[in-house]
Amino acid sequence: MFNSLSDRLTATFKNLRGKGKLSEADIDGTAREIRRALLDADVAVPVVREFISRIKTRAMGAEVSGALNPGQQVVKIVNEELVNILGGQTRELQFAKQPPTIIMLAGLQGAGKTTLAGKLAFHLKSKGHAPLLVACDLQRPNAVRQLQVGGERAGVPVYAPHPGVSSEAEAPTGDPVAVAREGVSTAREKLHDVVIIDTAGRLGVDAELMQQAADIKAAVGAHETLFVIDAMIGQDAVNTAQAFNEGVNFTGVVLTKLDGDARGGAALSVASVTGKPVMYASTGEGLKDFEVFHPDRMARRILDMGDVLSLIEQAEASWDKAEAEKMAQKFADQEDFTLEDFLSQMQQLKKMGSMKKLLGMMPGAAGMRQQLDQFDDSSIGRIEAIIYSMTPHERNAPKIINGSRRARIAKGSGVHVSEVNMLLERFGQAQKMMKKMAGGGGMPGMPGMPP
Ligand code: GDP
Repeated sequence: MFNSLSDRLTATFKNLRGKGKLSEADIDGTAREIRRALLDADVAVPVVREFISRIKTRAMGAEVSGALNPGQQVVKIVNEELVNILGGQTRELQFAKQPPTIIMLAGLQGAGKTTLAGKLAFHLKSKGHAPLLVACDLQRPNAVRQLQVGGERAGVPVYAPHPGVSSEAEAPTGDPVAVAREGVSTAREKLHDVVIIDTAGRLGVDAELMQQAADIKAAVGAHETLFVIDAMIGQDAVNTAQAFNEGVNFTGVVLTKLDGDARGGAALSVASVTGKPVMYASTGEGLKDFEVFHPDRMARRILDMGDVLSLIEQAEASWDKAEAEKMAQKFADQEDFTLEDFLSQMQQLKKMGSMKKLLGMMPGAAGMRQQLDQFDDSSIGRIEAIIYSMTPHERNAPKIINGSRRARIAKGSGVHVSEVNMLLERFGQAQKMMKKMAGGGGMPGMPGMPP
């Protein structure tokens, strides 16, 4: 997501590097490049026009600052304006004073509403809420079943009109407005503090569908209506968003499929065209491929300044404290770093999510895009397989792993012996690094990254 936009913008800024003063021509040229990059990323034309005009005005009038050179000042201005068009401040859900808080999802079919419902429920549950999912998409065959599966994965109950519906061919029948009402009273009875209502979508904007969503919203008095939009739909995003804004007057936007190769125009257009904030982003099909959307962090990612805050949050959320303390103790005691430890650290990293995604949040990621694209998350699985094929003794004393043991391990894990060699070599380097750090009293760091 945003990769090509990010590459183009960073290349533009490179041209400004080292300039002592920016002439009007420099600013014009830069603005033209940024304009092209945004249009190529499918950002809506009026949004681009407004953006460029603000950048130009601000860059021309930029005060000379002691701390920043002119090139950096332009980056700073672009960063601030990007944050602006992405919606400014981070906006989280507003919970009703009288629970339950009712959240309704609306959007076109295939936008990712049902998938998102499960993720949002999981997210809220992890924050201590007790959500109930309500299945009101009675149009798409299998939507109810899909929500039930999502609910099971998230460990969140689902209220559905026909609990047993499982036929792929047939859509459940019933009145979605009535189901929504029943869902909310069930939530009240069972003391759920949040209700998430999944609604039906159509392939295109359609008056009947919009009316149905508006009816559900009115019947249950939804506190938040989230418009779910597939970030890959490009220029259509703006029209669809406007239609839904008029139809259901949504309170926030959720961008889905931000993991794809889409050019990102939807993300950059919808908030400014509708004046409604982007609140969440969905970045894959897994339950955890979900983020609170922070305009400032997203702008930093686009400008390749890295999103270290999100990285830290993900680390904190998934890091196993007991495991980390155990490791620190080992270092304090100057015990040997073994392949077991190597594996455990690798598994901790893996819990944070896709390594590729994590690396993409590092500052300078745009500069190593090619390496990132080649990075294969499954290589961690292969390393695990290799280490699991070793005996406990081998894991604790890797020195004994001679040629015939290597051949046996390779065979057992289904890899070529050269991969076993490479792993042992990398482990050797990590072990040395750990020794050095432990000797110097430093904190343990990460062992070498997988190939
Ligand atoms: P709905 O019709 O709006 O309920 O859409 P679904 O939730 O059924 O999603 C449509 C398709 O998009 C499904 O195949 C999902 O697995 C997929 N999908 C949803 N969200 C994402 C996402 O963030 N990334 C990717 N890659 N796929 C997604």
